[in-house]
Amino acid sequence: MSPVPIHGLLLEELEAFCKEQGQPSFRAKQIWDWLYVKRAASLDEMKNLPAPFRAQLAENFSFQCLEKLEIKGAPGETQKLLLKLVDGELIEAVLIPARTRRTVCVSTQVGCKMACAFCASGQCGFRRNLTAGEIVEQVLLATDVYGERPTNIVYMGVGEPFDNYDETLKSVRILNHPDGLGIGARKITISTSGVIPGIERLAGEGLQVELSVSLHAPENELRSKLMPLNKRYPLDALMQACADYTAKTKRIITFEYTLIKDLNNSAAQARQLVKLLKKFSCRVNLIPLSPVEEFAGERPDSETMKAFFQTLEKAGINTTLRDSKGSALKAACGQLRARSL
Ligand code: SAH
Repeated sequence: MSPVPIHGLLLEELEAFCKEQGQPSFRAKQIWDWLYVKRAASLDEMKNLPAPFRAQLAENFSFQCLEKLEIKGAPGETQKLLLKLVDGELIEAVLIPARTRRTVCVSTQVGCKMACAFCASGQCGFRRNLTAGEIVEQVLLATDVYGERPTNIVYMGVGEPFDNYDETLKSVRILNHPDGLGIGARKITISTSGVIPGIERLAGEGLQVELSVSLHAPENELRSKLMPLNKRYPLDALMQACADYTAKTKRIITFEYTLIKDLNNSAAQARQLVKLLKKFSCRVNLIPLSPVEEFAGERPDSETMKAFFQTLEKAGINTTLRDSKGSALKAACGQLRARSL
């Protein structure tokens, strides 16, 4: 059995394999059609491929490297998939249905190195990066649970996407490709804790994906406390990278700001945030903290959150504040969240 997951291959890579095997390159599109459109359960179903070629595929690739262990939650509500990798590691993907949207939130790493104080993902440390195939398969398994193609993908599960840049971007290209699932780039959101080299590289990819940047504090001292990565990539450098990104791509960045009682939710901090973002054309997404065990913080009361929201709105910053009581967020288990439900 080969360990190479077929879902981690770009169409061009599969075409190259077909040629190597003496097959016409259009075979690659036929395979993709079975994998992503018809969702064939096995190679045997791929009847328009010659049997010997199917045997070659079986020899060279694995067709499923994730095992679905558990589905938490009821259909129609937020559901969490617990998935086992071939080396026994566990990851999760989350389905977030809302009106006409079927969003899938994917993980990019097993664990996380960033160690943000309020985030459950980093608390068990870092194990390894996921491959593009493992990221794409999360979406496919979610597709099976939805019973139809997802409309949106958010890279907001466990892990820092830009700490696993190449595999993350490869998975985006596979998911986005019109001959595969064909998820529009604008329906794909990558969320980063502020890894500047990743923001710079993404600006040059020529992809229309959405970029979210997790801010959580309007000044360095607090941000470094909440997000140790800020010592490496402090706010002024981060904001400059975001400005450059916007100038180069003409894409609007969304800043994520998790509201934590008595830590980052004061009126003065709201004004500081306005000052930081005022020159930007951007959006702000305010997220009430999901309580996590190892972090003593709490979510602020509704009035405080509303006041924070209004300070931003009045300053002309396009802001959203999600209802903290939404069952969706709770089921997303603290560390996960997805934009614009
Ligand atoms: N590493 C990436 C993506 C994963 S986290 C990033 O940091 O952006 C997705 C979002 O959930 C981030 O904005 C993250 O800061 C936020 N988050 C993490 N833990 C949370 C919690 N307990 N409550 C609310 N939001 C949280």
